[in-house]
Order: sequence, then C-alpha cells, then structure tokens
Amino acid sequence: MQERQFSSMLDELRNAFQSGLTVSFAWRRAQLLALLRFLREREVDIAAAVHADLGKSAQETFLTETSFLAGEIRYALKHLKAWMRPSRRGVPPHYQFGHGAVHPEPRGVVLIIGAWNYPLQLVLAPLAAALAAGNCAVLKPSEHAPHTSALLARSAGEYFDSSAVRVVEGGIVEAGALLAERFDFIFYTGSRNGGREVMLAAARHMLPVALELGGKNPCIVEPDAALRTAARRIVWAKFLNAGQTCIAPDYLLVHEDVVSVLLSFMQQAIRDFFGADPRKSPDYSRIVNDHHFTRLERLLRDGTIVAGGHSERASRYIAPTILREIAAGSAIMEEEIFGPLLPVLTYRSFDEALAFIGQRDDSLALYLFSSKRATEKKALRQTRSGSFCCNDLLFQSAVHTLPFGGTGKSGFGRYHGKAGFETFSLSRSVLCKSVFPDPDLRYPPYGKSKFAILKAIVRLFG
Ligand code: NAD
Repeated sequence: MQERQFSSMLDELRNAFQSGLTVSFAWRRAQLLALLRFLREREVDIAAAVHADLGKSAQETFLTETSFLAGEIRYALKHLKAWMRPSRRGVPPHYQFGHGAVHPEPRGVVLIIGAWNYPLQLVLAPLAAALAAGNCAVLKPSEHAPHTSALLARSAGEYFDSSAVRVVEGGIVEAGALLAERFDFIFYTGSRNGGREVMLAAARHMLPVALELGGKNPCIVEPDAALRTAARRIVWAKFLNAGQTCIAPDYLLVHEDVVSVLLSFMQQAIRDFFGADPRKSPDYSRIVNDHHFTRLERLLRDGTIVAGGHSERASRYIAPTILREIAAGSAIMEEEIFGPLLPVLTYRSFDEALAFIGQRDDSLALYLFSSKRATEKKALRQTRSGSFCCNDLLFQSAVHTLPFGGTGKSGFGRYHGKAGFETFSLSRSVLCKSVFPDPDLRYPPYGKSKFAILKAIVRLFG
C-alpha cells in the first residue's frame, strides 16, 4: 500500500517538475521566502519540538538550528540570480563560430533523508539548496526526533508549495520504500550503515547521491596554543547538544607538557558553563534515546574519569565527561562517540600525533590549536578531512562561503551556500554553433594533404 502511495506521490511531483513550475527565479525565491517565514512564525513551536526531542534549550536551538538556517536562506536569496546565470566558456578558434556556456539546471525530484541530532537543520538546509536550484523534493526527517518530524509534516502544506515539496514521516521501513522509487538525486545525512544502504539502493537506479556521514574528529592541542581559550572552546564544542554533533571533537591529542594545565582549564570551563551539577543546567541537552544512552554508558568504562562520569537513565542524562588512560584497542577509540564523552590522549612530538591520525579513517573535521603558521601548514599538508579549523571548532560549518561535507568514510558531496546550489544542480554544457563556415576539411575523405593541414591546425590551437 505504502509503495503505491509513494509512487503516486512521485508521479505528482514529477508532473509538477516537468510542467516547468520550479524553474523560474520567482518560484524559487517565493519558496525560500516561505521557508524563512516558517522559521520566523513557528519559532516557538520549533524550540518546543526540539526541546521535546533532545532536551535542547531554546537558545541553543536558535543558535544552531533556526538562525543558521535563516542565514543560509538569506545568503541564497542574495546570490540566487547570479548562481542561476549560465557561465560563459571560451571556444577555441578552430571550433568557431560558436559560443559555449555551462547552465546550472535542476536535477528533478530529489529525496532528502535527515538525521536526528540537528533535526530541523539537517533537512531544511538541503531543502533550501534544493529549492534554490529549482527541484521538487521529498523530505524524510528522522524518526528519532518525532516532535520535529511531526511539526515539519504538519506545517509543510501551509508553507511549502505542496505540488513540489512533501514530507514523509517514518523510519527505516518508510526510507526503504522511498528508496525503491526512482528519484533523480538522493541527499542523505546519517550513519555509515544507513549511507551504505542508500548507496546500494541508488545503484539499482544508477542515481547520484550525496552522503553526509560521521566519523571520529581529532583535535590536536600543541604546547604553544592559547590553552585557556582552547579549553573553553573545546568544552563548548564537545558538550553542545550533549556531544551529539557530527563535527564535534571526538577525541583530543594533547602534547604531554601541557595536558595537566589544559585539563584543569577544561574542568573549570565545564563548571563555568553548566554549574557544579550540569543535570540542573537549562543549557545542557539529553541523550536522544535509550539505545544511545546504553551505548554511551558502556563507553564510559573505557578509561579513567577525570571529570563527570555520572549518568541517570530516567532522564537520559550523561554528564560532560573527560576520560584519560584509555585502554588500548577500546571501543571508545574505534567507534564514533557521538555523546558527551571526551577521551584525552597525549603525544610527545607533532609527527607522532599526525601519524596517529593518519592511521585512521578520514574524518569529517580536524581541529588544531596552535599559534604557529608552520604547524598549521604541516597539519594541512599531512592529514585529510572534510574540513579543518585552526584555533576554534564547529564554526567552519557556519560560514556560508565554505562548502560542508566529508571525505572517505565520512561521506562525499558538499552543501551550505553556493556548494548546496551546485550539489542540487546539473551542470549542462551548451555549445551553440553557427552554420557558417562549414569547411570541407572536417569531412572525409581525409587524404594525406588534408590530414597534414588538420594536424597543423589541431597542434596550433588544440
Ligand atoms: P541513521 O543512519 O540511523 O539515520 C539517519 C536517517 O536515515 C534517518 O532518517 C533514518 O530513518 C534513515 N535510515 C536509517 N537507516 C536506513 C536505511 N538502512 N536505509 C535508509 N534510510 C535509513 O543515523 P542517525 O543515528 O540519525 O545519525 C547519526 C549519524 O549521522 C552519526 O554518524 C553522525 O555523525 C551522522 N551525521 C552526519 C552529519 C553530517 O552533516 N555529515 C550530520 C549529522 C549527523
């Protein structure tokens, strides 16, 4: 039954797309403005839904969800006309007369599957890019953020053009039924396992995909770093959303000479930000569900607790926790932590730290605290990651001019700002030729002398 519903929904969206509805600048602009209106008019409902899903404060929802999204949309509105313009390309003299250009064209009907940790941003930022690029879209928000998912489903008809945008609620079953349909592009945010399933399903239809996955993001702290600031920024980035952030630092690599000073600054920062008992802080989130709570409680045992370590199952609270003396080969250094546990490892030389990172999968983000440009350059040269941020964390994803995405097992495909528009567009190469001249030279029979002239021309211009 569901399959039949999805395929008739897809037929409707495809008809809308083929009618040319979504192509004009006016339509795209109107959709982006409607998205902005949704964020403004439903701000209170959004904050309540995200709080019900993750225990997140309204302030944090504003900072990490709605204000980021509004910024993305305003940036797109400002640049949309320029992005939509075909870009002219030179045509070499021996192919004249003609003009060449690359036209950004919508992909068609796209599927956007989101994760739960930033339940609004992870579906609406790709949606903004998809609409800016002139696509129809189906959103499948995460079933693990049911309040946000329900709000999106309820509001869709009111704000979005329902002939072009639909929201499908549900979990793996619904996602699987959607993936059985033939979309034109799939944009997926979530775990590696889910990403693998999406890629397999896409392969059946030979579909392009973008996968925004996770991984273990290292953060290196050099002895010349501004340690107090580094400590405050690391604590803020790690324990935001109770560590459930794909680009949060997963573990620290700290030079052994400064580890004790850094740890005491970090302990102080935890107290400053969340008080003596973070359970009572209105600014500290909860773990999304029992499955992840149990998983994180198990990881707590993989090291010696330096700060935090408390947990409370009833409210799915896990304190901001710092761990040392991590057991060799322990799970906490193998799987993505995705929670408020921060293992701290030490190194003796920078090369040792880089070698440690080099032995592991490419991460989504890599962080370095150092005051030396040469150290920054060396880290950039000798590591790979989707993004790199020096002397701060997370903000690389908030800058609209910087494309966001992973590399290797942390995913592929970019969005945010113009990169999102490009990801949801097809670059169509267009060459329009004059019918004059039409030299005989290009046509067979070539013969010896004709070929010699052709060769000379191609060598000169080709
Ligand atoms: P998840 O893979 O469990 O679910 C993500 C979405 O995919 C959900 O909507 C879910 O219903 C769907 N899904 C799950 N399994 C599926 C399958 N087999 N086939 C089709 N769809 C499926 O991931 P999650 O637990 O929601 O998210 C956590 C992961 O996402 C972490 O690894 C995190 O690092 C990553 N993440 C990455 C980014 C990024 O931008 N790169 C952002 C947020 C989260």
